[in-house]
Amino acid sequence: MAETYQNFIGGTWVPASKGETFDSANPASMDEVLGTFPRSTAEDVDAAVQAAKGAYHEWMQTPAPERADYLLRVALLLEERIDEWSELMTREMGKTLKESRGDIQEGIDFLHYMAGEGRRMQGMTVPSELRGKFSMTVRHPIGVVGLITPWNFPIAIPTWKIAPAIVAGCTSIFKPAEDTPLLATLLVKAFEEVGLPPGVLNLVHGFGEDAGAPIVEHPDVRAISFTGSLEVGRMINERCGALMKRCSLELGSKNVMIVMPDANMDLAVEAAAWGAFATSGQRCTATSRLVVHEGAKSEFTERLLTRVGGMKVGNGLEPDVELAPVINAEQKQRVLSYIEIGKDEGAKVLIGGNELTGEGYEKGNFIEPTVFDEMTPDMRIAQEEIFGPVTGIIRTDDVDEAIRIANSVDYGLSAAIYTHDITNVFKAITQLEFGIVYVNAPTIGAEIQLPFGGMKNTGNGHREAGPQALDEFMEWKAVSVDFSGKVQKAQGID
Ligand code: ADP
Repeated sequence: MAETYQNFIGGTWVPASKGETFDSANPASMDEVLGTFPRSTAEDVDAAVQAAKGAYHEWMQTPAPERADYLLRVALLLEERIDEWSELMTREMGKTLKESRGDIQEGIDFLHYMAGEGRRMQGMTVPSELRGKFSMTVRHPIGVVGLITPWNFPIAIPTWKIAPAIVAGCTSIFKPAEDTPLLATLLVKAFEEVGLPPGVLNLVHGFGEDAGAPIVEHPDVRAISFTGSLEVGRMINERCGALMKRCSLELGSKNVMIVMPDANMDLAVEAAAWGAFATSGQRCTATSRLVVHEGAKSEFTERLLTRVGGMKVGNGLEPDVELAPVINAEQKQRVLSYIEIGKDEGAKVLIGGNELTGEGYEKGNFIEPTVFDEMTPDMRIAQEEIFGPVTGIIRTDDVDEAIRIANSVDYGLSAAIYTHDITNVFKAITQLEFGIVYVNAPTIGAEIQLPFGGMKNTGNGHREAGPQALDEFMEWKAVSVDFSGKVQKAQGID
């Protein structure tokens, strides 16, 4: 029997008020249940918001270095637990052990980074135009915040939200994805273990409409930080607009790698394989378009097919597996239907294209790594996010056209170019409409000290990670102190 887990509200572990539950299953073997979790509703969300409200006043007055110390202590716990948690993550989310480890390491790195922020959190001093007057800016927490996360990075993405919220002095309600509730629970337990005061971080499990939407709607929640699909993000954006809430969105993308004839072909092929198929293409930075110059195309294509043909597909716990299952049956069907759409549109499957069902695959959600050729920029498979192990090659004749093709989508998260020509490099850096640009590096593999986020439909201008991470959770306050002994009126008024 799988263990039953609970919500964490005001420092206490409690079931959902209606007593309903859901299970978390292993994508490589769907009959393995990792745990049973509370299926929460608006009532549970309200209890969590009340707890967060109750804790807020004391927490926002706790000195930032003291708040940050909890992050450091959780980072140290995660370092001890990385092996154990990696295995659990692979069982709950499916990706390979190495990638699960990388996910947790990213969380650790960011906890360290944000812990340092507790001793920075800088404002500015600026000169006043008046004598005997001193002016400065200080940062102020936004209040109670809602953190809604997806399943593809079960530790890293929650950490990207929880850590800055804590150091900023916010209290929060965390609603993890319904596909990865176990790892979310372990993370929250680590914060409990290091003694984070009750109510500062509250965990509410459940499904989007039942448990996510009430967080967005709750009048006492001042800001929402959301990572997930464009469809849900758009809805949240609209609601937050109407309710005058701050909202930070990190949504889908249609990332691109440009390959020019002077590219180092060993690196370009490996980067394409890693960028397209790591995490089975279920990263918002996955390489789903390869825009390849005519002068590189035959060699690149041939070598990519050899590389992809050698990939072992299977359970992410096996050390030689490179392509693990996709998260659930619904996602598998979605990816397979996109492969059919691509074929109907006239793109040619060079390799893969099928679900895997034989021995070792019968209980999981396995799809062959799939590469299309003859993809054109206007096709749906070249425009829409697939979020699976599918990529496609678009041919081009020159770098300007390649950049135009790269930019011809509604998204703009991550773009890469492989070239050694300095003109191509700077055209790419200056003209690509993407929040993250790589030169001779794959589209995936963001580092936490850089801002993460995208242009166009990928988001709404906010960035996570990097020094910008606090902006989601803090207001700016302009403070002036007049010690002139007079009532001074600015702008030269006597
Ligand atoms: P994905 O396709 O990656 O699962 P979703 O956007 O469906 O992306 O889900 C991302 C997160 O948003 C999950 O935690 C999910 O439960 C939550 N979610 C889904 N629908 C809603 C909604 N209507 N309101 C708030 N949160 C939601």
